[in-house]
Amino acid sequence: MAVTKNVPVQDIRLVLSAGAAAIGENRVQEARQKFAQIGPAVSWHMLGHLQTNKVRTAAAIFDMVESLDSPRAAEALDRAAGGLDRQLDVLIEVNIAAEEQKFGIAPEATRDLVKRVAKAQHLRLRGLMAMAPYAAEPGLVRPFFRRLAALFRELRDEARHPEHWNVLSMGMTNDFEVAIAEGATLVRIGTGLFAATAAGRGR
Ligand SMILES: *Cc1c(COP(=O)(O)O)cnc(C)c1O
Repeated sequence: MAVTKNVPVQDIRLVLSAGAAAIGENRVQEARQKFAQIGPAVSWHMLGHLQTNKVRTAAAIFDMVESLDSPRAAEALDRAAGGLDRQLDVLIEVNIAAEEQKFGIAPEATRDLVKRVAKAQHLRLRGLMAMAPYAAEPGLVRPFFRRLAALFRELRDEARHPEHWNVLSMGMTNDFEVAIAEGATLVRIGTGLFAATAAGRGR
């Protein structure tokens, strides 16, 4: 998936014509402006923290919200999706390394949130998302990816609809190869795709 935060629409069009099937945005407002130009032909993923006052717009734009991390956000998003008569795919974001500055639910609290989300009528829980801590050497993040993959399998095996559990979103530009080796089914690439176009414009 191409992560397009801060990337102008003309550059997004380049990766779409090169075959990108999904784009990820961090802010609802920014996504809304781009959505008005690009439209729904590509799959839109929300990656940033979801504020409850933005759920309505988010539910209208995004096909998947990867950053669900509280019962409150889940309830608000479910209601908003219902109001639009939409079914939204969601991932639960796990704060896999228990970093204070990061969003995401604690690994040990994830199971309870899964149970809450499973009751939501307009949300379809597809799996988990996490960001590994920054590491100068990508191999150092392997234990975190391994831990997330183990949690994913555990929760999938307990799920009411295990067949829906087929998205494990982990890995970014610096660590996607390790993430894939540990079982990622979706990697989120920003810099690796767009640094060259940004440099070409002198940004
Ligand atoms: C920005 C961002 C990415 C992409 O990171 P790069 O290192 O630029 O590939 C992936 N996931 C999330 C949640 C992000 O905010």
